[in-house]
Amino acid sequence: MSEPLDHRKLYRLPWSLSDNTIAWLEPTSKCNIYCEGCYRANVNQHKSMEEISADLDVFAKYRTFDGVSIAGGDPLTHPKIVDIVKMIQDRGWKPILNTNGHALKPELLRELKRAGLMGITLHVDSKQMRPGWKGKTELELNELRLQLAKMIGDAGDISCAFNSTVYSDTLDQIPGMVDWAQEHIDLVHVMVFICFRAAVESAYEYYAGARKIDMQQLVYSDPPAGTRLDITARDVVAKIRERHPDFEPCAYLNGTEKPDSFKWLLTGRFGTKKKIYGYMGPKFIELAQTSHHLRTGRYLAYAEPKTLRRGKWMLWLWPFDKGLRRTFLRAFFDPRLAFRPLHLQSIMIIQPIDVTPDGRQNMCDGCPDMTVWDGRLAWSCRLEECMKFGQFVRTVPKACVPAPEGEPVKAGTNGGA
Ligand code: SF4
Repeated sequence: MSEPLDHRKLYRLPWSLSDNTIAWLEPTSKCNIYCEGCYRANVNQHKSMEEISADLDVFAKYRTFDGVSIAGGDPLTHPKIVDIVKMIQDRGWKPILNTNGHALKPELLRELKRAGLMGITLHVDSKQMRPGWKGKTELELNELRLQLAKMIGDAGDISCAFNSTVYSDTLDQIPGMVDWAQEHIDLVHVMVFICFRAAVESAYEYYAGARKIDMQQLVYSDPPAGTRLDITARDVVAKIRERHPDFEPCAYLNGTEKPDSFKWLLTGRFGTKKKIYGYMGPKFIELAQTSHHLRTGRYLAYAEPKTLRRGKWMLWLWPFDKGLRRTFLRAFFDPRLAFRPLHLQSIMIIQPIDVTPDGRQNMCDGCPDMTVWDGRLAWSCRLEECMKFGQFVRTVPKACVPAPEGEPVKAGTNGGA
């Protein structure tokens, strides 16, 4: 039976503003589909190679990192995406594509791999206006996810991750998505669940400096009435534990305002298509991150698929980690594993901005997805504010009775978190 989530018992990932795992590059603002939860306006604008190189210079000046997440918009709409991957590879970082996969084709994938592509994170969820897949449930979309995972598997040795935004009406489907990922544990290396967020205009006023601003100008304002805006990582774990009571996270990033909030919550499970043998513990992930940093000077972003197929070797670190010890005992005495690989698969839950009743903004402390704005690093999830107002906005509670702590925050009610 799993333990209640207590941040003091998990490993606090060592990622910071200046020393992190990744940097978030946006070579384009153009996208080829539309997603309800998107936090970027779809503008038909591509950055030049010179501008992209300048962004990489800013990252290199301020941050140590292992990989570059190439996002957007959708990066596959950029005509020079293969050159961008090569540029990142040539500068010694791991190129990771963050795409909806709509434009992904086997021949393009082969070109990207030749250019040095190390991983792909595919954003697939039921709130996307994706031709041929509109109105499908999250579980029905597993068919599309499998098509994409097989395409990446065929290209070989490219890390494959899926991310989905979590809404109140898709939360119940998460255990099914977790099970799907296990059935394809040989192809799918990471599942990412991102809790939906939007600006709550009923509860707060917004200011850019001293200037009161209208958030309606931003794509992440005005969500459909009744949409929950405060689903947390704890809610997602609780949902997964309804089907997998032993589901055990091991590491986290806390919030900038709330130290016990799980803004990034990582779980690693060892298994086969048929069985999960156990979960990595806090000591194992600490060893993985610190030994990689000692060896390379960087924290580890995206392990290689061939490493993730070697779960049995990792279990020999059982003397250092409780989770590994439990897994080792279950795996060691199972003859079926004698001739099968044991895979390590990660599940990451991300809980974006939370605004407290008094207006403080609880961001991810050690945000990995920092991008470039005006020659400095900025939260990519709120870049629109900089682009529209020249700075991040402040949230000031409206002079009305805030919702009691713990009350669900829905569009049209007061703030919480
Ligand atoms: S602060 Fe925003 S951009 Fe950074 S990790 Fe959190 S949600 Fe992502």
